Amino acid sequence: EVVLALKRVERHYVQGEKKLTILNGAEFVLHRGEMVALVAPSGAGKSTLLHTAGLLERPDAGEVVLAGRQCGKMSDEQRTAIRRNDVGFVYQFHHLLPEFSALENIAMPQLIKGLAPKEAKNRAAQLLDYMKIGKRAHHRPAELSGGEQQRVAIARAVANAPLVLLADEPTGNLDPVTASYVFDAMEALVRQSGLCALIATHNHELAARMNRRVTLQDGKIVDL
Ligand code: ADP
Ligand code: ADP
Repeated sequence: EVVLALKRVERHYVQGEKKLTILNGAEFVLHRGEMVALVAPSGAGKSTLLHTAGLLERPDAGEVVLAGRQCGKMSDEQRTAIRRNDVGFVYQFHHLLPEFSALENIAMPQLIKGLAPKEAKNRAAQLLDYMKIGKRAHHRPAELSGGEQQRVAIARAVANAPLVLLADEPTGNLDPVTASYVFDAMEALVRQSGLCALIATHNHELAARMNRRVTLQDGKIVDL
């Protein structure tokens, strides 16, 4: 079952006099249940690819299809609605709200969506348990370790039960041992919730544990 597809996607930036081509007829398919590693050097276009796939940026040409819906010609409002429902993002830095607890941070997207507070908190607590940090529920981000902060960020990204998780160096700030444990938890969560994920990483050990590895070459997405 195809969840996300990129079809002949192009993305160019203009830098002064120069036209920089990042994606040039990029084709990609992500299936339900799959975890795919995106491995490429800095500046290759990983963030551009993730933001285009996640409907944060529009391609200059080509189409992004999410759960069978062609998103190219949709309005910004439609794209935002789909992104909020069906896409979860995780970054190298957690971007948690500092004045709220771990539990509240995770419950936030569901409250915004209109879920009853009790339900949102129950789901947040369950996600904290899945991420093995149930005991940290009432701590604020500053009171958590780097690995714990990323676990909370991952739980928040999937709080609204998206179809796809897009992660940009989610363990990039962590030491290798912590990175491996955080990845364990993320993998368990993805597998358990039937998600699929595209994860940019420089960590070859983690890339090796995913179902497939792809890279960017001449603006195309190719298997490694
Ligand atoms: P990566 O995530 O692999 O490091 P990016 O997608 O962030 O790569 O960037 C790819 C290239 O595109 C880089 O050379 C970057 O400088 C350039 N770039 C990214 N965003 C913009 C932008 N908004 N305007 C101009 N150039 C950009
Ligand atoms: P908006 O900022 O338009 O209200 P949402 O709150 O609906 O967007 O965000 C949906 C998802 O997209 C969230 O996971 C959020 O973290 C991510 N997101 C929103 N805007 C950006 C951005 N400018 N850069 C990176 N991620 C973003």
